Amino acid sequence: MKQPTLEDVRKASERIYQYVRQTPLVPAERLAELSGAKAVACKLEMLQPTGSFKVRGAANSIMALSDEQRARGIITFSTGNHGLAVSYIAGKMGVLARVCLSKRVPAYRSEAIRALGGTPEIWGESQDEAEARYHDLMRRDGQIPIVPFDDPRVIAGQGTIGLELTEQSADADTILVPLSGGGLLAGIAMAVKSLRPEARIVSISIKRSPVMLRSLQAGCPVELPEQDTLADSLLGGVGQDNRYTMPLVERFVDEHVVVGENDLKEGMYYAFRELGVVAEGAAAAPLGAILSGKVDVRNRSVVTIVTGCNVEVSRYLSVISEKEREHETR
Ligand SMILES: *Cc1c(COP(=O)(O)O)cnc(C)c1O
Repeated sequence: MKQPTLEDVRKASERIYQYVRQTPLVPAERLAELSGAKAVACKLEMLQPTGSFKVRGAANSIMALSDEQRARGIITFSTGNHGLAVSYIAGKMGVLARVCLSKRVPAYRSEAIRALGGTPEIWGESQDEAEARYHDLMRRDGQIPIVPFDDPRVIAGQGTIGLELTEQSADADTILVPLSGGGLLAGIAMAVKSLRPEARIVSISIKRSPVMLRSLQAGCPVELPEQDTLADSLLGGVGQDNRYTMPLVERFVDEHVVVGENDLKEGMYYAFRELGVVAEGAAAAPLGAILSGKVDVRNRSVVTIVTGCNVEVSRYLSVISEKEREHETR
């Protein structure tokens, strides 16, 4: 397949709204005041079904399949937001979706997949063994893989966020996007820059796992050891045979910013306090980058993507109460 274009994003936007929402863009006035930006607005993607933007790419990929392909069923191995999104869309469309998980994945995760309409395929002791099972089943039964980021249809699906935000904001000139595998950033950047070439695209990576950044610096996909982070949705590599997102991210990003765990916490607390929304760690990364001054947004009209809200309740509450205490005593 070729690299996706604005035309592919437009095609995606003709397809996906049967299952996907057009999300609101809400002003973050306090953040604009604090940072000296002309305006800051947040695109609330955590309002999507299953609590993340990943339904856009999943819907575009699954809806583009032929009847014959859908009859064979689809397969993936993500335990996180991508697995939930694929399960949801497949459930709505009546397509059999196998989600390969290891025995170590907590039961509530496989239950969530089943409740949405996916079929957990539990196999092996590690995520690597679950992935091996995915490849075996694909070869044996000919199921169609639905991948989380390195795919033109996924990128075009995520790109519909870019189309929406240019319609919602006539003057947005700086877009802050969390970066992991790069499907989200590649889609948004390609769509926004096709329509508004002067717009500036800023990637936000996490210090504990800046895999795309290191890969771009090395000129090829690299692997980094996994560390625990609040932004668990940003973990995982870029894929050893990355074909689409690395070149697109390289071409379109104007500035790369890296944030630490405390920045994520500040972002989550801001989202709770000032926006009244739940942001998971990954989704709070751009807010944290602005609050800490790691990105200069003075006099800019900024849009940030609040990408998801799937965070363990106990972890979320401990972040909010820790920050509440800190801010009270300041
Ligand atoms: C997947 C995900 C991201 C990163 O998207 P990529 O396309 O992998 O770069 C960011 N935030 C959330 C909540 C996600 O689920």
